[in-house]
Formats: sequence, structure tokens, C-alpha cells
Amino acid sequence: MRHTTHILFGTLFAIPIVSYLSLDPAKASFIIFTALIGSLLPDVDHPKSYINRKSWGIFYRVVLQSTHRGWTHSLFGAFIFTLISTLVFFYLCWDMLYSMVFLFGYLSHLLADSLNPTGVNWLWPKKKKYKIAIIKTGSKGEVIFQAFLVILLALMLTELPK
Ligand SMILES: [Zn+2]
Repeated sequence: MRHTTHILFGTLFAIPIVSYLSLDPAKASFIIFTALIGSLLPDVDHPKSYINRKSWGIFYRVVLQSTHRGWTHSLFGAFIFTLISTLVFFYLCWDMLYSMVFLFGYLSHLLADSLNPTGVNWLWPKKKKYKIAIIKTGSKGEVIFQAFLVILLALMLTELPK
């Protein structure tokens, strides 16, 4: 899936949390940003992914041993990166909410990629890939899916407390 799809899907996971907790705008913005980072991070295993292009390939060098949709696209990867993010948040502010939102963003990426024919190796190191295979990357189906996500986000935003 394209990075824009992951950003939309990750935001979709963060908005209900922001809404439910009635967070102030600054914290709400950082929560959504955290979910977006989580939603983009699994693609650090692809040298030309959006997150690698925006981070000068630093992340790719870290996970160079991985093939695309390998361990970073699994529950193991979600655990490792959430653990790392928890340590960062512990240093910055120690609020478990950020770790939880990061995890939700990360899992949103795996769910979105599971809609793709390539599938996701959720239970890495097992080799089986799980997929629903209804949306090809860059296809009209992905554009329609993005439009659907935008509509859902718009509906959610109109329901946010004022
Ligand atoms: Zn991916």
C-alpha cells in the first residue's frame, strides 16, 4: 500500500482515542503524529519507502537484513518497535498512551497491507502470509479505499467534541 493509505488508516485508528479522551489540541496532535509514525514504520524494510526517503535511509540501514514485508511486517516487529518507542516515550514524558497509539498505528499498517495480494507475514518467523487480497498497491481499488477512508475521517471529525 502507498504511504498515503497508511497515513489515512493510521489516523483513522488515532481519532477515536483523541475523541474519547477529549485531549487538548497539542496533545491530540502529538498523539495523531505518533500513530502516523507507527503506521509508516513497518516499511523501513523497503529502501524506497516514504519513511526511508524522509529519514535519509537511516532506518533502512538498521533493518538492512530484512526483505520487504519480512519481520517488520509482523507481530514480532510490532512488539520490537513498540518496545523501542516505549523507551523513547519513557525518556520524553512517560505516558503509556503514546506507546498504545504507536502500536495501533503499527497494527493499522499490517491490517492495510493484509488487504493486498502480497499479504503480511503476521506470525514471522513462520512463512505463511495472511491476506484478503482485494486491493493492489497503486490500483483504482486503492484510490477508492483512500476515498472511503477520507469520508470516514470526515465523519469522525464532525463528531469530535467542540
Ligand atoms: Zn508495508
